[in-house]
Amino acid sequence: MSYRFAERTKMFKTSAIREIGGMIQKKGKDVISFAGGNPYEPYFPNAEIKQAFERVFESGNASLQYGLTTGFMPLRAAISERIKSKGIQAKPEDILLTTGSQQSIDLLSRVMLSPGDVVLTENPTFLAAVQSFESYEAKVVAVEGDKDGMDPEDLERKIKQYQPKFIYVVPTFSNPDGKVWSEQRRVALLELAYRYNTIILEDDPYGDIQFHAEEKYTPIAAMDHRKTQVVYTSSFSKTVVPSLRIGWVTGPEPVLKYMSQIKEAADLMSSPLDQQALYYLLRDMDLDAHIRMLSKNYYQHMSIMQNYLKTLDHSMVSWVEPKGGMFIWVKVHESINATELLAQVLEHGVAFIPGAPFFVEDPKQNTLRLNFTHSSPEKIQIGMERLTLAFKQSVKL
Ligand code: PMP
Repeated sequence: MSYRFAERTKMFKTSAIREIGGMIQKKGKDVISFAGGNPYEPYFPNAEIKQAFERVFESGNASLQYGLTTGFMPLRAAISERIKSKGIQAKPEDILLTTGSQQSIDLLSRVMLSPGDVVLTENPTFLAAVQSFESYEAKVVAVEGDKDGMDPEDLERKIKQYQPKFIYVVPTFSNPDGKVWSEQRRVALLELAYRYNTIILEDDPYGDIQFHAEEKYTPIAAMDHRKTQVVYTSSFSKTVVPSLRIGWVTGPEPVLKYMSQIKEAADLMSSPLDQQALYYLLRDMDLDAHIRMLSKNYYQHMSIMQNYLKTLDHSMVSWVEPKGGMFIWVKVHESINATELLAQVLEHGVAFIPGAPFFVEDPKQNTLRLNFTHSSPEKIQIGMERLTLAFKQSVKL
């Protein structure tokens, strides 16, 4: 049988991360993995989640019914309140609940992208977002940048050249490189978006996991006083638990309207049961205190990992200390190929993700991403001992 698949399936790719995940699994249980982007399970608020679900069941059978495509209104109202502290003003009606921020990305892609349209991104950037853009047969073009964000000159050049449908950015503790955009670059991006009538997709799942509370990072959405240019998405995957699959998106009303229309076609609605449980959780639990605990502890995880990196020869390894999020992005000497290095370190019982798959263009083979949130501090120590030993052996220092 030859199946007559849609043209767009030619653009489908399996994520390199999943493939590497498979490789790691094959190696068996003893491998300490810094590869995935998972949070640390012992920090999950299990008891509070259980109680929140009980509250939903106590509220009667209607709570198990179909709900609105746009989501459970009291949760939308709670999110609207929460984001005020970030400077984002969005009425509950202007918030669409999604099945994780991944779905926000996918819905915006459906609404904006026709085959051949261009999306501008950072380089490297979040892989699954690129997968989504390309699945709608869009062309993804990388904008040059540095530690502070996209280079405004290259951005303007590429906006003029490609007239992108939108510009996708993760300006606060990015995945994979943990980068934080400077205020100036955020403003520059927004000004260009105004000038050239293009929208920005600001993806901010990590912004709350912040190590230095005194440093303030203003979401670009909070700077968009005209409320015309920024589609902003975030999620409870990193701050509560990923399995709830609750994300949300806000942005200009015409865009949101189409997004909720097409969400109906995608899945009718995200789980009302989960949304109600999250509503009770936010009502009854101090999520801000929980986030402070996570940030404090993840800072410790990160510091342990970083201290091992510091023992390596600095001409061979460099990185920028992350100020939040879940990853340390490491550059190794140009003579080292991170995929080959992974094969070697796996033999020592430790894993990471090579950086190359995160690049839209010009993949840097000498980069890798280390996740510090999934493993316990003890496991990070053991894993980093293995990793630094394997590294020293493989570069024959
Ligand atoms: N955006 C970025 C940058 C991510 O790293 C992730 C997942 N790790 C997501 C979006 C999707 O997260 P979720 O769907 O769980 O909200």
